[in-house]
Amino acid sequence: MRIAMVGTGYVGLVSGTCFSDFGHEVVCVDRDPAKIDMLRAGKVPIYEPGLDELLARNSREGRLSFTTDLASAVDGADAVFIAVGTPTRRGDGHADLSYVMAAAEEIARALTGYTVVVTKSTVPVGTNRKVAEAIARANPEAEFDVASNPEFLREGAAIDDFMRPDRVVVGVESDRAAKVMAEIYRPLYLRDFPIVTTDLESAEMIKYAANAFLATKITFINEIAALCERVGADAKEVARGIGLDNRIGPKFLHAGPGFGGSCFPKDTRALARIGQEHAVPMQIVETVIKVNDEVKRRMIDKIVDLCDGSVNGRRVAVLGVTFKPNTDDMREAPSLTIVPALVGGGAKVRVVDPQGRREGEALLPGVEWLDDPYTAAEGADALVILTEWNAFRALDLRRLAQAMAHPRMADLRNIYDPEDARAAGFEAYVAVGRGTAP
Ligand code: NAD
Repeated sequence: MRIAMVGTGYVGLVSGTCFSDFGHEVVCVDRDPAKIDMLRAGKVPIYEPGLDELLARNSREGRLSFTTDLASAVDGADAVFIAVGTPTRRGDGHADLSYVMAAAEEIARALTGYTVVVTKSTVPVGTNRKVAEAIARANPEAEFDVASNPEFLREGAAIDDFMRPDRVVVGVESDRAAKVMAEIYRPLYLRDFPIVTTDLESAEMIKYAANAFLATKITFINEIAALCERVGADAKEVARGIGLDNRIGPKFLHAGPGFGGSCFPKDTRALARIGQEHAVPMQIVETVIKVNDEVKRRMIDKIVDLCDGSVNGRRVAVLGVTFKPNTDDMREAPSLTIVPALVGGGAKVRVVDPQGRREGEALLPGVEWLDDPYTAAEGADALVILTEWNAFRALDLRRLAQAMAHPRMADLRNIYDPEDARAAGFEAYVAVGRGTAP
């Protein structure tokens, strides 16, 4: 199959590279020439474990190439994927579809022969039909079908998720399009995974429902965690106790500083907006959005309390600022709420993150960036763990405590044991959802 991937961001680059690894001939398109220049030079513009090797091999073997020239990539393609961004539209929470629609029109003018135009971006219900209308309007002669193929990969584990998905969802309206999509994903069939072939609207809805459900699960345990703190329960124990129930499952039950990232915040807002537009308010999702904001604010209070009521003049070492480990993505990371609040409160903040600095420097003004947790801890009045990178999971707590002026820790990912922290010399240790019995 010949595939054009329009939009070479986290999703487009991983999907395009993996499709080429299946044996398809893939051209990745981006309108950002700097990105394409980097990729042509064999450099990967994002941090995603394993991507550089896979990309280098498939480029070398001639199945994967990069261009800014959309028309040449689309010419003769069996399928053109749209994987451009759909950020929140300013003001109303709706997904901004301007990039998708602009790409659709550009693709329309370049179509030659029968092509399936596949939307991989997360888009509100009805968008694939709008894409079809836009293509037909821009090029009435075009022979095409549209397909919805939402993506479920997680940043940080994107290649494995793409290669070993729990399921692939495909929304189509014609057998011809279904056949092309089946051919594209055929290499995965050997691994016996389910492919959900459905209509366009259901496919679009599946993506929002999945993300909203996961965001709800995280927010649920965060709210339970707040109550645990008051009543003397341990949210980790509670999560384990409920997660072993197969109907609930153990995943997405880790209490923490609130969800962030490039998907959950914008997709919950978009779903809430879709509900409002159709007079079916998504009350649970609306509450999740509100509670998640409160969770992040509660983390600020925790740190302030740890510093005896004020961070003014305090030295605070922050470990981890990306929205989760193994990515450089800073979009809507909890750190973007918590760190500016500390800086605004007069704290002197030092930050360590294995990959966050490139994006984070512009987003977190007024902080000092360091490479090493022990250096960051020197003379500090508090240590805050915000992202659970492996590099922060097995620190020498005694060494940290000795380096600090006031050994106090806010472990907002619950990675350390309170007893171990105290035994190592921390005079105060707070986590999320771990109360002390009254
Ligand atoms: P991104 O911002 O990393 O990448 C989008 C890319 O598209 C950019 O490089 C941009 O330059 C390019 N672009 C925009 N308009 C273009 C055009 N007309 N022609 C060519 N290139 C164009 O975005 P992302 O994180 O990869 O997300 C893309 C979509 O996938 C979004 O809808 C998102 O919700 C969805 N999604 C993302 C993830 C994730 O983990 N990031 C997971 C599942 C789904």
